[in-house]
This record gives sequence, C-alpha cells and structure tokens, in this order.
Amino acid sequence: MTFQPPKGTDDLMAPQSQAWREVLSLWDEWSGRYGFPLVMTPVLESTELFRRAVGDTTEVVTKQMYTFEDRGGRSVTLRPEGTAGVVRAYLNSGHQGAWKGAYSGPFFRYERPQGGRRRQFWQVGVEYLDVEGPAADAEVVELGYRYLESAGVPNLELLINSLGDSECRPGYVAVLREYLRGKEAKLGEDSIGLIDVNPLRVLDSKADQPVLVDAPRMVDNLCDACSRHFEAVKTLVEGLGVPFTEDHGLVRGLDYYTRTTFEYVGRQLDTAQNAVGGGGRYDGLAETLGGRPTPGVGFALGIDRIVLSVGELDRPYLEAYLVSETGPEDALQVASRLRRDGVNVDFDSEGRSVKAQFRAARRIDVAVTLVWKGEGEPIDVQTKGGRQDVPLEEVSDWFKERT
Ligand code: AMP
Repeated sequence: MTFQPPKGTDDLMAPQSQAWREVLSLWDEWSGRYGFPLVMTPVLESTELFRRAVGDTTEVVTKQMYTFEDRGGRSVTLRPEGTAGVVRAYLNSGHQGAWKGAYSGPFFRYERPQGGRRRQFWQVGVEYLDVEGPAADAEVVELGYRYLESAGVPNLELLINSLGDSECRPGYVAVLREYLRGKEAKLGEDSIGLIDVNPLRVLDSKADQPVLVDAPRMVDNLCDACSRHFEAVKTLVEGLGVPFTEDHGLVRGLDYYTRTTFEYVGRQLDTAQNAVGGGGRYDGLAETLGGRPTPGVGFALGIDRIVLSVGELDRPYLEAYLVSETGPEDALQVASRLRRDGVNVDFDSEGRSVKAQFRAARRIDVAVTLVWKGEGEPIDVQTKGGRQDVPLEEVSDWFKERT
C-alpha cells in the first residue's frame, strides 16, 4: 500500500493510543467535576466566522487555515480553534445568562510540522459565557491547572497577564507602537511588518526579546477597572493554592483576548513547543460576531503535547487474555460473561492452537491469562506470581480483590 496520511497528520493506535484514551477520559472527568457539560460544534464552519473572531491579521487566519469552497460555492474552513464555534453556538441557542461548555476534538492548522506541532491536532477546552466577575476567570484557570497536574504534565507552570480592554488597550497600543517605531533598526522583518497592523503581537517575537525588555508594559497602562479585575483574579488564584508567575510579555496569537490571559507551560518540552495550552477572557468577541454583549473566559489545551510530555504508558490495554482449550465458540461465551461482569478481556476468534493463543497473550503483555478448560471446570488463572483455579462466576471478584 503506498498511501500515506497527509503531511502533518498521524495514524494512532495501541499501545500509543492508550495514553490518549486515559488523558481524554481524565478530561471528561475534570471538566464534568467543574460543572462544564459537553458542547459539540461542527468541524467545518463558514470562513467568515474565523476571520471575524480570530482576526484578519493573525497568523492563524492569514497563513494557517484549511479553507475551501464547498460544492454549493460557500467558503468553509476546517476549525483552527474552538472558541469561535462555541460562542456562535451559544448566541444561536438563545440561552440567557451564565453558560458553561466543554469540548474535545480535532482541529486543523496548516503549519510546518515538527514535534508537538501537527496540521491535525487535538484540543480540549472550556468556554464560560456571560460571566464577568474575576471568580469565573479563577475557576477556569484552576480547572486547567488541576487537570494538567492530574494528567502528570511534568514541571507545569502557569503564566498570567492582563491585556486590558477597549477602554485602556488602544492608548497602550499607541504608546507601544511609538516605542517600536523608535527601535525599528534593531527589530526583525516580521516584527516591523506588525508595528502598524498589530504591535501587541511583536511582544510575542522570540528573536526580538532583547529589544523588548524595556518596552512599555500593558500592566502599567491598565485602566482602574482592568487593574482591579487583574488584582482580584491573582488573589483568587493564589487563594486556590495554584502557583503562577506574572508574565507581562504574554500576548496570545488570537486577537479576541481582553483582560486576563494565561498560558500553561510544561518546561520538559523543548522551548519552541512548550506551551501545552492557554486561554483568557474575550469580552468583546460575541459582539464582533454580531451577538449581544457577552463577556466570557475559556482555554484550550493541546492533547498531542500533553501526551508527549507525559510520555507513553507502559501498561497494556488489556487486563486479561482468555485462552480456550475447547475452541473459539466457547471462548466467545465465556468472554461475554466475564465482560458483562466488568473484566477487560480478549480472546482469539480464529481457533488457533493453545500454544498460539498463549503467544498472543504474551505479545500483548497482559498481566493475567485465563485458561478455559471446558464446561464445569474452573478457570485456570495464571499470573507472573503463579496459578490458581477460580470458578467462572467468581473470576470478576478475583479481579476486584486483586486491585
Ligand atoms: P492556541 O489555540 O493557539 O492558543 O493553542 C492552544 C494549545 O493547543 C497550544 O498550547 C498547543 O498545546 C495546542 N496546539 C495549537 N496548535 C497546535 C498544533 N499545530 N499542533 C499541536 N498542538 C497545537
């Protein structure tokens, strides 16, 4: 077969997919615990939605979208991020008042593929809408942190900043632009190109950091309301026992953020791709999309990078393998009984020799091999520690006692 998956996409199967399964089910658990029910929106949206929401001058929109015309002549785009679609869905639903949603699924960006950077990648995230108080920011920030911590991301760090709002940001942007113009001789070409269109994004430039150390900072230019909000968020997050660092250079790649912005970093990963996720407040986004004013806060976490930083699980995906001495039809019945009792077990349906069945068990590296000898006979339960006879109806209890 000569077909390969498209560049920047991967096939994923056991045993690597086991870590994904665990990390994703942990996400369902944590997001549910914080009161975020599932929200599912289309993978395909109208192109205009992302142009408006994410911003026409952002890299995501100018360089990375998978955009094409469908057979009806509409311009559609494979979603590059989750917030735009969820906010659109919320506005369409007619729901009034505070609303929570958690998502999990594939996203697409046409990027140069490398470790931790794929063209199809998986994000989980939450959006908390129609809430403006700092407690909402703190709750969302905490959820992301607790989840990443329990997934086992090593050297987890949380960075927090405030980007101000429509009240104070324009003034700051003007001051920053002025400063950057004065430094043009020392800035890279990409940064110079951004001074007019989006000077905040220059702060993101890795190469130009030496020039930017003395740049004016948003935190010094926040209006009173933004400043109070930022202080309150920090106090609340601290009170939750979540450690963080203020990073005044933290701006994020999407234009819709206001006030609180944050990023989760796993220092284990190499520096270019060490962000495992990020988010913030986007109080103006709903209006940009033509909806009523709806403040909101959320984040997105990259599962590909979380799995990379956690490492592969060496646990096999099966608890037990059933070897049948009386053929596959009996094994089918016995396995069914065990599965309904909660045992995670597989068997050979092709009627191969007992020896071949034991080989299969070893290949999967199961901890327990169950040998079916025939009707009325107990199951011969084999582990590294030895073997014992257990009646079929007691096998599931044997597993429960074992853990
Ligand atoms: P963003 O939506 O750009 O704020 O990204 C949030 C998180 O999604 C990042 O921190 C990454 O973990 C993940 N992510 C974004 N783009 C990619 C990509 N091309 N490949 C893998 N993960 C990605």
